[in-house]
Amino acid sequence: MTSEIPKLFGTSGIRGKIGYDITLELAVDIGRAIASYAGGVGSKIVLGYDSRTSNVMMENAVTAGLLQCGCHVLKIGMAPTPLVGYATMKLKADTGVMITASHNPPEYNGIKLWNPDGMAYKQDQERTIEEIIYKKNFKTVSWENIGKVEEIKYVVSDYVTDIINQTNIKHGIKVVVDCANGAASYLSPLILRKVGCSVIAINSQPDGFFPGRLPEPSEKNLGELMEIVKSIGADIGIAHDGDADRMIAIDEKGFVADFDKLLALVCRESGGTVVTTVDASLCTDKCMDEVGGHVIRTKVGDVHVAEAIENNNAQFGGEPSGTWLHPNFCMCPDGILSALRVIELIQKYGPLSEQLDAIPNYPTIRDKVNCENSQKKLIMESVKAKLHIILEDVVDVNPIDGVRISMVDSSWVLIRPSGTESFIRITLEATTIGKAYMIRDQCKEFIEGLL
Ligand code: MG
Repeated sequence: MTSEIPKLFGTSGIRGKIGYDITLELAVDIGRAIASYAGGVGSKIVLGYDSRTSNVMMENAVTAGLLQCGCHVLKIGMAPTPLVGYATMKLKADTGVMITASHNPPEYNGIKLWNPDGMAYKQDQERTIEEIIYKKNFKTVSWENIGKVEEIKYVVSDYVTDIINQTNIKHGIKVVVDCANGAASYLSPLILRKVGCSVIAINSQPDGFFPGRLPEPSEKNLGELMEIVKSIGADIGIAHDGDADRMIAIDEKGFVADFDKLLALVCRESGGTVVTTVDASLCTDKCMDEVGGHVIRTKVGDVHVAEAIENNNAQFGGEPSGTWLHPNFCMCPDGILSALRVIELIQKYGPLSEQLDAIPNYPTIRDKVNCENSQKKLIMESVKAKLHIILEDVVDVNPIDGVRISMVDSSWVLIRPSGTESFIRITLEATTIGKAYMIRDQCKEFIEGLL
């Protein structure tokens, strides 16, 4: 495939400002391209959207493109991303389309695509869609084969039933949930209540202006939630992003739960083989050691986590960002099921803050070495070939995303060229502060020696 074909997909679907990057013309073309790639006459495409002001406009444009190429559109309306992934699987559809810009501000929108098993489109599939759009290779059909639209209502109750059957929660855990006025505004509080939690829901009226808080669940946007959890004595606070494929937990003291430690707790409970990304903390490895489990590392991005889960038959996988996959349920990241998993832990082992405190802190260092863009490739090749000889007790060199070198005690260092600036970045975590400085110095010296 030629490289002049412009990239439309980023790390998580196509995303941009409505009317600028994301136009109606593009939305129609995306519909045509999906139908031309995954569809054909009579095939079924699930279509849902989040709470943005541009949602129905985008839905209609994508629908027009799909119908023109003979696909039947199964509309599920406003839905969190995990419901679109689930519905694609449950309804045996050929592709799922989620219209969302996830955690981006209100003026954004985008599109994310899902395979029949609920897994996100892989990079080669996205590239095929880009090529079809660029070359306008649309398989339009004649008047008698134009697709039909069906509104599917029952899939929501199937999702609620199936997700509840996945969980084991017995009694009144006190939960405050903040849905960011996003796509899970009805569903997440409903499911939490149905499993037996005592629920206070805030920002849980869908609203594309996001009047409660911005859809990014970062600490600066969660002040209200943290305050309420603490003041009413709740066991946990849950914050979703705009499309609820993610969740962030607040402990009973009102603090944001450390992302890496929370992930480590859930990995340990899952046991077996788990997947996480190259930048996740070694506390996951330590927790998995306790239960005789195994950690697989992938590139940053939930699609890569999903692929590694599939290839290694893993029980669980997640990124420290709070995007977690539960393959026994569906291959689409699910922030509602993730919340239920954390609630199960609280019920089983007690207060969340105590569980998190029991996980050790490891010294982390982030540093960088100046490096011109033109030199980055050569430097990274040397890092991959030789750095492990200099460092002590190396057990693994993983070149999947930069170069990640791990040592026998699970200390690790990740060397990555910055994508936007003239730096090589060094990120590391070690079992002692002395060891952290030693690894940092050895890496810096090695890279500077190459310049
Ligand atoms: Mg999201």
